[in-house]
Amino acid sequence: MIPQREIFWHISYKGLFYLLAFMSISVFFYGLVRHISVWRAGLRKQKIIFLWGAVKRVFLEGILAGRILRGDLNAGIMHLFIFWGFFLLFLGTLVLAFDHWIFHFLFGTCYLLFSLCLEIAGLILAVGLIWAFVRRYVKKVKRLENKKEDLLLLLWLAIIVVTGFLLEGMRISAQSPSWGIFSFLGFFLRDLFPKHVALDMYPFFWWLHALLSLSFVAAIPFTKMFHVIASPISIYIKDQPAFIIPAEQKQAGQFSYKELIQIDACTKCGRCVEMCPSTSVGEPFAPRDVISALRNQIYFRKDINLPSKLIWYCTTCGACLEVCPVYVPPFEIIRELRSKQIEDGTEVPALMIQTLERLYKYNNPWVSTKKKRADWAKGLDIVDITKQDEKELLCYFVGCTTSYDIRAQEIAKSFSKILKYCDVKFGIFGKKEPCCGDIARRVGEDGLFEEQADLCLDLFQEYGIKEVVVSSPHCLYTMKNEYPCLREEIQNISFFHYSQILEKLIKEKNLVFKKLNMRVTYHDPCYLGRHNKIFDAPRNVIKAIPGVKLVEMEHFRENSLCCGGGGGRMWQEELDIEVRMSERRIMEACDTGAEVLITCCPLCLIMLEDARKSKELENTIKVMDLNEFVLMALKT
Ligand code: SF4
Ligand code: SF4
Repeated sequence: MIPQREIFWHISYKGLFYLLAFMSISVFFYGLVRHISVWRAGLRKQKIIFLWGAVKRVFLEGILAGRILRGDLNAGIMHLFIFWGFFLLFLGTLVLAFDHWIFHFLFGTCYLLFSLCLEIAGLILAVGLIWAFVRRYVKKVKRLENKKEDLLLLLWLAIIVVTGFLLEGMRISAQSPSWGIFSFLGFFLRDLFPKHVALDMYPFFWWLHALLSLSFVAAIPFTKMFHVIASPISIYIKDQPAFIIPAEQKQAGQFSYKELIQIDACTKCGRCVEMCPSTSVGEPFAPRDVISALRNQIYFRKDINLPSKLIWYCTTCGACLEVCPVYVPPFEIIRELRSKQIEDGTEVPALMIQTLERLYKYNNPWVSTKKKRADWAKGLDIVDITKQDEKELLCYFVGCTTSYDIRAQEIAKSFSKILKYCDVKFGIFGKKEPCCGDIARRVGEDGLFEEQADLCLDLFQEYGIKEVVVSSPHCLYTMKNEYPCLREEIQNISFFHYSQILEKLIKEKNLVFKKLNMRVTYHDPCYLGRHNKIFDAPRNVIKAIPGVKLVEMEHFRENSLCCGGGGGRMWQEELDIEVRMSERRIMEACDTGAEVLITCCPLCLIMLEDARKSKELENTIKVMDLNEFVLMALKT
């Protein structure tokens, strides 16, 4: 007898099966079309561009799970097992349908190999499901949620797999084929079913297996399983050109097509929750919950199910995106939610409202005057670009915090002294310098952001600026990544952070330093590191100073901890919590035994200085800006 399989062996009512299959596929496509129409209603500026790199990424990071494996090997392998087991079984079902309806080729050796492959796929899926169950309900991995849906989906898949193996066992018992061992699990189960029992039970289990499988397919678009479809798309669109739709041309809180796909792609894996600095210091906020609640609201009109003031906890640090296996940026999505609240005037922290009003009137979030903006420069003999004719000057964009905050002013003073020491021709905009708009953008006040950005762009154009160096990584991110979405001409301007200029000066000018004999550590500001990918420049500057030993903290580079000052958190009421993010960070710095904690951002400098005081660490560690440290080391 030639080895092969009779598709509807011992089954009646084939017509009913086809009807159910048709219904299942129809429900699946209805759900899919619903998602696609939501995506299509999202904001978009141009068609999605084809990118080979993105295809490669989908293959490596999505299908081969490269990104999931990174960081949590255990979870990655488990996911690989479930995905590949499920995918191969699904593919096997399609091949069987092709063989049955179009071209019969599954017989003989080909059929035996096919059976063996499906058996292995089933086994892989079973192992993956047991692993998932143990992680979630026995080991109780903290970052995983335990909602009814999670248990239901696991059990659903598990019963499909188990009934599949039982059916094999019954079929082998009833037919006793000589090739039964190729379905080795079913082969071992055959003894559970004497032939007459197998024949009686087979139809019942067949229908149970079929109904569960068909309903599972139908349920995919209505459960978190939809990530199977949305995740590869989210991974693909990651690099699509950024765009900003002017505030007056969109409704507040309207998501882009990209954000809507990303919301659907979330697998609820909880990696973002584990990394989120707000969650980890015990604040009542978790990025995954915002994404889940939003998805429920979009598709099921359920209440957002979390007090909406929670969205103000996000510091926009980007740590969540760094670990998200499918590139969901909760902070971008939260920005849109904030923008809706700003427009409605609901739930916005009172201090934030005052800050935005000040920004609107005085072009800075700190003080109610524009006149004092350049006071820090008094006596330093710094060129005011707006008052002289010389072109080709390096424009030093000081930024609001560095201009007004007494501690942060030291950044501007020391950087200017270093530039002068190196004979760099530079100038500032003095009192005319506006805010770059970062804070307005992060909190969703898009109209105000555009106003501030326009003021900056006009100044750059009026004074023929070609190169800009900024104090704040927040200004750098806004100018480099968001201004080009507003005006294309800006692409002719080069933007730098001062750490990059310092690195260049050390290389080109052969700066001579004193030997310092110090142990120091470095805090990567979120907007310099994660958001702008500048990790090495500040480290190279520190390492260039003889005698200095740079020791890394437990969290560094992409994995760095947020100080808690970004995303508008600097301008919100203090929360009553046990440990602040900045305090957690300074304690980590102390653990290295370093005498000095160096950083490269005015907000980090202020936050870490405050934490040093509140933790009474004044005699243990110093907090310095990179410029202050370099100036201290320069041989004058
Ligand atoms: S946003 Fe990303 S990291 Fe967070 S739960 Fe969803 S998939 Fe996981
Ligand atoms: S950006 Fe930072 S603070 Fe905001 S959700 Fe992500 S990890 Fe949490």
